[in-house]
Amino acid sequence: MDERRGLLYVVATPIGNLGDLTERARKVLTDVDLIAAEDTRETRRLLAHCGITTRLIAYHDYNEATAAARLIETLESGLSVALVSDAGTPLISDPGYDLVVAARARGLTVVPVPGANAAICALSAAGLPSDRFLFLGFPPRTGAQRRVWLEAVAREPGTLILYESGRRAALTLADAATVLGETRRAVVGRELTKRFETFLSGTVRELADRLTAEDEQRLGEMVLLIEGLPDAGSADQVEQERVLRVLAAELPLRRAAGLAARLTGGRKNDLYRMGIELGLGQGLLKE
Ligand code: SAM
Repeated sequence: MDERRGLLYVVATPIGNLGDLTERARKVLTDVDLIAAEDTRETRRLLAHCGITTRLIAYHDYNEATAAARLIETLESGLSVALVSDAGTPLISDPGYDLVVAARARGLTVVPVPGANAAICALSAAGLPSDRFLFLGFPPRTGAQRRVWLEAVAREPGTLILYESGRRAALTLADAATVLGETRRAVVGRELTKRFETFLSGTVRELADRLTAEDEQRLGEMVLLIEGLPDAGSADQVEQERVLRVLAAELPLRRAAGLAARLTGGRKNDLYRMGIELGLGQGLLKE
């Protein structure tokens, strides 16, 4: 490998509380040759707080391809670069994707330096199912597009995580009530890690009404979490049972369970147990 090729660090920064900058992030930001920032003013504040004097350049989303090409040249000349966004993890509803893709395509080393992320931060304390979730980023801004967009995830069993501005959050929750059903549970995580950190829980309809009625609940930054389709698990099970019954009529149960697992995305052991509980003994006798 060419000794002169620099490393690209993708560095997470705090989403509000400056104490959330990790020790490793601080060291990387101090040691690199250059920091590429989404907004240099925003990052300058963080660097000043930490006493870091590393050279800072702008990395813009609107001309990301050009910015990425320039930074690739910098990396190939042997300099190391840290990519940061205004807050949280770069690339997560923030710039950086083109740069990481280009760097990898050139065989450069890309090093993640993990830390704060608003979606995971909200999920970790919201009290909605966290074993399975779908990060959706920002919804479309117009109502009609937003409802079509929500339609596409209406049957998703995992918790939905959305970023939204305070201005549009009530509208998005009202659309969620229309498209996903009034009774879906939801949580609004607002101003996370900051002084006025707030979690509001309720149905999507209740939260839409609350945000409409209370101006202060629309202030600042927020993450919306909406529980997944409550009976999606059983819908999956109906399909699994259907496939398992067909296969178990022809094959030993263990083979039928293995094939049904591959066809439905289920787990072989669960399907085998289902087969036994359903008394699909034909297969058992053949084994
Ligand atoms: N890259 C960031 C991350 O890792 O979370 C997200 C950047 S995105 C442009 C900004 C959105 O993230 C905000 O509109 C809001 O939805 C969410 N967000 C960021 N900071 C937040 C905070 N402290 N509390 C609640 N939501 C926040």
